[in-house]
Amino acid sequence: MRFVHDTLPQRIRFASGEAAAHLAAETTARGCSRVMVIAAESEKDTARRVAGSLPVAVWHHEVAPHVPVEVAHRARAAAAAHDVDALVSVGGGSTTGLAKAVALTTGLPIIAVPTTYAGSEATDVWGLTDANRKTTGTDARVLPRTVVYDASLTLTLPVRLSVASGLNALAHCVDALWAPRANPVNAALAGEGIRALNAGLPRVADDPGGLPGREQALYGAYLSAVAFASAGSGLHHKICHVLGGMFDLPHAATHAVVLPHVLALNESAAPEAERRIAAALHAPSAVTGLSKLRARLAAPVALRDHGMPEAGIGPAAEAVLSVVPPGNPAPVDIESLTALVRAAWAGTEEIPYPHR
Ligand code: NAD
Repeated sequence: MRFVHDTLPQRIRFASGEAAAHLAAETTARGCSRVMVIAAESEKDTARRVAGSLPVAVWHHEVAPHVPVEVAHRARAAAAAHDVDALVSVGGGSTTGLAKAVALTTGLPIIAVPTTYAGSEATDVWGLTDANRKTTGTDARVLPRTVVYDASLTLTLPVRLSVASGLNALAHCVDALWAPRANPVNAALAGEGIRALNAGLPRVADDPGGLPGREQALYGAYLSAVAFASAGSGLHHKICHVLGGMFDLPHAATHAVVLPHVLALNESAAPEAERRIAAALHAPSAVTGLSKLRARLAAPVALRDHGMPEAGIGPAAEAVLSVVPPGNPAPVDIESLTALVRAAWAGTEEIPYPHR
């Protein structure tokens, strides 16, 4: 065995119903006296509930998907105008992303309270969008110092969004098994993440107001993000990044649709990953396990349902070809990528890859 593994420095506090107490303890321990709370309009009530007792200098509610640069600019200006000494984000990946954009230029510490399964809170990856072009990068300053996980805050996430977001987390796990920095440590995290998500998400779908399923899903989402942060972006994330950017598609649903197609492409060329995924899903094979879970969750199936035009298939496949990670297990060419993108666009079950 030979591998290199980086562990990101971050504290996790995980307990349902404890977000307010844990946030207060964290800000006190860190000596924060002028906090900027970032939460989207729709996350405002939750934020007031969990951050209401903090020494808040400014509440900031202008949040937009994929962190447009002008939105980041206004948030940075607000942080400077109010002379804040810490950022508290309460919300989904878009909200966490805005806090990261502020931390990127200011170095302010973030305490993140995630309310979806996106997992941004456990990575050092930032993203900014300028004129429909999304740029991402990694920087230690954007990694939240503490993450406060409270599954009770996810009870309001509608089933449809919970399923898409949970499958986004599952995609972090699966892609981590063949991403550029894949190693035995993040493979172990990914396997446990898949197991937890497979246990939690059906319970969330059956009983959205029940905590046990939500806790499993949130725990799995955390593990998935740690595995992804360590392993880097594999083929799946590259494809979703291209598609999301070209057609302004919803982030979580895009991941949910594309994942089975990338798995089908790679599984025969990645037997160890295939076995790990199958075992974590308690299924005879990875593909059948994922297919069963997706059916159980009534997962999104086709990108055309989310606004991708058919004419975009060719250009998207071309764009993906130029960013395929060199170590991808299966050989990839323009034919296989076009077949994959077409299958994801149409929601086709059986994927006619040339090499299969
Ligand atoms: P999102 O943050 O845009 O949230 C989707 C919607 O759900 C929003 O309207 C939000 O207000 C609402 N919402 C959030 N929590 C809720 C709750 N508990 N109850 C009811 N409604 C709730 O979407 P997302 O999928 O969480 O995040 C996607 C973004 O995160 C993308 O921009 C993506 O690129 C980014 N992301 C980044 C990383 C990273 O490592 N940097 C990782 C994953 C995702």
